[in-house]
Amino acid sequence: MRFASCIFQVAVLGGGINGFCCAIQVKEKWPGAKVSIISDLYTPNTTGDGSAGLWGPYLMGDTPAGKVNEWSLGMHKFLKQIWISGDSGEAGVCLIPCVRLATGGNQLDVSWRDIVYGCRAMKQTELDAYSGTRSSKFTSGLHFVTYTSEPAKLLPYLEKRFRSSGGNVIKQKINDLEELIRNSNYDVFVNCVGLGALDLVNDKMVHSIRGQVSRVKADWIYYAILDESFNGNYIIPNLDSVVLGGTHQENNYNLNICPNDKSFIINGCQIHLPGLKHAQHLKDWVGLRPGRKQVRLEMEKTYNNKILIHNYGHGGCGVTLSWGCASEVVELLQKSMKSKL
Ligand SMILES: Cc1cc2nc3c(=O)[nH]c(=O)nc-3n(C[C@H](O)[C@H](O)[C@H](O)COP(=O)(O)OP(=O)(O)OC[C@H]3O[C@@H](n4cnc5c(N)ncnc54)[C@H](O)[C@@H]3O)c2cc1C
Repeated sequence: MRFASCIFQVAVLGGGINGFCCAIQVKEKWPGAKVSIISDLYTPNTTGDGSAGLWGPYLMGDTPAGKVNEWSLGMHKFLKQIWISGDSGEAGVCLIPCVRLATGGNQLDVSWRDIVYGCRAMKQTELDAYSGTRSSKFTSGLHFVTYTSEPAKLLPYLEKRFRSSGGNVIKQKINDLEELIRNSNYDVFVNCVGLGALDLVNDKMVHSIRGQVSRVKADWIYYAILDESFNGNYIIPNLDSVVLGGTHQENNYNLNICPNDKSFIINGCQIHLPGLKHAQHLKDWVGLRPGRKQVRLEMEKTYNNKILIHNYGHGGCGVTLSWGCASEVVELLQKSMKSKL
């Protein structure tokens, strides 16, 4: 029995942040297994590559809060490991102060406050300082410290870690999953194709949440500032640039830079931080978040008793959820292997 000897073969579909986290955890759990990632795109061309990679639950539909907390805690712990391992510079992991701000009756989600460090409610004097030149000042806010893990740096780091453990990276588009399952030697498939699930498994619940951002050079910004209003802007420092955001347009599949969105981003962020008027503009970027009513993380038995685990639909926080979701993929696989022995 292949599972008993731990020499089974695993195909992880999708080379984004979720694919790499799953592939690494499976390979590190079962070093004898042959693990391959199959994907048509890799870094720097995945959805995460232009994002700031700020830790924080955001745009994940009705995914149960307990699950979101469990998965995002898993990533927070993983980032802490990297932070104290000496790899943080290479992996693009930074520990930074962050404020999430609201006006009027808007309530801030606080379900994650015990995961981040030192989360506390802000006083009005502090809120005034973050209100910039806004006509209405922020009326509530949370101040805390958390991680950014810039995917453009984290993904190459994860790829190196996966390859050095013996993992295999294949560049290929999968057009027919059923055919791959029937005609290949893989025993296990982990589906991390994000928005690709729309075509690959015909999941009509998956949809795009378009995000446009700009990057500027502003070495004097050390804080992540997030306006939690529906059309609020955000400012998140990374290692070599600062991300200014951003849009969240449901069912919009346009990958082109939109000038109106750019004005909204640049002007909106300058209201928070007028000094941004002097920042050098580096680039604009658009990514399509894999939105879904809920993250799909479940297993199904398929042809010839092979195992298929779905792990996609992470919306606006696929980086935040990735390591924790990958741990659950490993648990599901372990359970199903035990039942086969
Ligand atoms: C502007 C913006 C800002 C963001 N900021 C943050 C943030 O600060 N923090 C955070 O946690 N999240 C953030 N996100 C969300 C995050 O980027 C996504 O949730 C995450 O990247 C999704 O990762 P994934 O691996 O599931 O999917 P993807 O990165 O989309 O990867 C899917 C992979 O599957 C491959 N694929 C698809 N179909 C096929 C097929 N048929 N055959 C072969 N390969 C296939 C693709 O090529 C790709 O490699 C942001 C997103 C955007 C757009």
